[in-house]
Amino acid sequence: MKARYKYRIYPNHVQIKKFNQLFGCCRYVWNQSLAHCNQLYANGVKKPSYVDLTKQFITQAKRELLWLKEVASTPLQQSLKDLDQAYQNFFQSCKGKRKGIKVKPPRFKSRKSKQTARFVGANYKIGQDKIYLPKVGKIKIVWSRKLPNQPTSLTIIRDSAHRYFASFVVEKSAEHLLKSGNSIGIDLGISTFATLNNGDKIKASLPLKNNLKKLAKFQRKFAKTQPGSKRRERRRLKIAKLHAKIKDIRIDFLHKLSTDLVRKYDTIVLEDLNVSGMVRNRKLAKAISDLGWRQFRTLTEAKCDKYGREFRVIDRWEPTSQKCSCCGFKGGKKELNVREWTCLNCGTFHDRDINAAVNILDVIQPKTKVETVKETVAENPIQLSLFDLVAGGQSETQNKTRSRRKSTRKKVVDGNESSTRLESFVQLSLFD
Ligand SMILES: [Zn+2]
Repeated sequence: MKARYKYRIYPNHVQIKKFNQLFGCCRYVWNQSLAHCNQLYANGVKKPSYVDLTKQFITQAKRELLWLKEVASTPLQQSLKDLDQAYQNFFQSCKGKRKGIKVKPPRFKSRKSKQTARFVGANYKIGQDKIYLPKVGKIKIVWSRKLPNQPTSLTIIRDSAHRYFASFVVEKSAEHLLKSGNSIGIDLGISTFATLNNGDKIKASLPLKNNLKKLAKFQRKFAKTQPGSKRRERRRLKIAKLHAKIKDIRIDFLHKLSTDLVRKYDTIVLEDLNVSGMVRNRKLAKAISDLGWRQFRTLTEAKCDKYGREFRVIDRWEPTSQKCSCCGFKGGKKELNVREWTCLNCGTFHDRDINAAVNILDVIQPKTKVETVKETVAENPIQLSLFDLVAGGQSETQNKTRSRRKSTRKKVVDGNESSTRLESFVQLSLFD
């Protein structure tokens, strides 16, 4: 399997200039080729191949544009390879041959967003505390962890907060952890990030919420600046740096949590949440994005793969928050503010999230009490009718007949009277 290893690098002023030049050239090649492809498409001509594009926008362009020769050529070729891949993904998605969400056609690259340049093959070298890149030189790197293998490629990244990174792709064999014999169901939520079926609750980190005031202040200051001014760029950078910090806190939290879970459990079960749908709700969008549910799922899944664990996702229509995890009785849909409830059938007091987590695991690994579950569900109407009687109402007679009918049945079942039944009566007395 392939793994990415990312390290922070610290280029000096000269090297930063050279990087900017390199990024600019990669962007130029990409944007020119894309514009060309768009033009051809408008005229009804098929997209040229990678080789044709390379000939036109690298080999030939270098003859006219001397500055294109001042940077390493591999990243330029890789840029066109990426463009080709972006088109392939788009075409496959249009044909319906690609899983997941619809892929959009490639877009133009902007000078202001994240910049990347990829080196492959033998044209970069790795040293003690430096990496060597052609036409840039030796750049200081901090090896925050060991590279496990010889990498197959190296991508230089500059993020919007102007930090530089070296990201290596390494071929790695999956390492299998020893089986722990434990499985876990996880319910993801807003007030509590994750609730485990064993009752553990993990608080969310909410870095955005904690920095909202600061962010608003920065954005207010930014809004007052003149477009195109140096001050505006400085203020933009300040906002970008804060965003980068927020993102780092979030990803750090998610990494730690997912690693911890993967170490402890053989099987991890999550619910398939419609995150993109929920984010459309404007009241919840900010809070949900701040949590990073989707990232958590991606990280956990990747780590399960890496360590030979089982990762399962259950259907989003599974009534995990409606069902009682003790008897299986469906208590109906509950509003989001209902955090605790008591099962009307068996009287168990539930924490909404823990109950959901137990149900999530139960979908994948049903407990052996299926038989008793059926029975209690069948007895269910008695319970309801009694409840109606207590509440009083017009349909009293109807209820009486129903409960009489029930009581005859009750005698039949009475032989193997279960404890849950008793509990339901205790529960009712509470309502009186
Ligand atoms: Zn119940």
